Amino acid sequence: MPSKPTLALVAHDAKKDAMVEFARRHQDKLSDFNLVGTGTTGGRILEACPALGITRLKSGPLGGDQQIGAMIAEGKLQGLIFFVDPLSPMPHDVDVKALTRLAVVYDMPMALNPSTADILLRSARLTGLKTTSGTPEVGAFTS
Ligand code: PGA
Repeated sequence: MPSKPTLALVAHDAKKDAMVEFARRHQDKLSDFNLVGTGTTGGRILEACPALGITRLKSGPLGGDQQIGAMIAEGKLQGLIFFVDPLSPMPHDVDVKALTRLAVVYDMPMALNPSTADILLRSARLTGLKTTSGTPEVGAFTS
């Protein structure tokens, strides 16, 4: 694991402005993390906050959500901020579901809207983000 905890940032199209606003507002706190993001979200954040140096994965509909899910399964991610659009149908709806499911399986700190993300970031600042593979779900399949 890199010396800083890794945090993933993802936003659906209708929520990208909210993500940019969130990144601007928390730029200082976010610099404590190694950041990864899906392609378009990462591009918008980089444009607004070039100093954050977020690593861009593939765009969500092209596999970016699944790349983040794989990072969770491999213990390479410590937190997820995912601003979901609750009002639009998505071609990659199954990927969204798979990603949030894995975050639950591994008890990953996950925020799905800005107000929870504010809380998560404040708390992460104090305690460090931790994911556990000791959940009952993981245990049931590894024993
Ligand atoms: P995007 O992907 O940042 O490439 O738009 C986000 C998503 O839709 O999952």
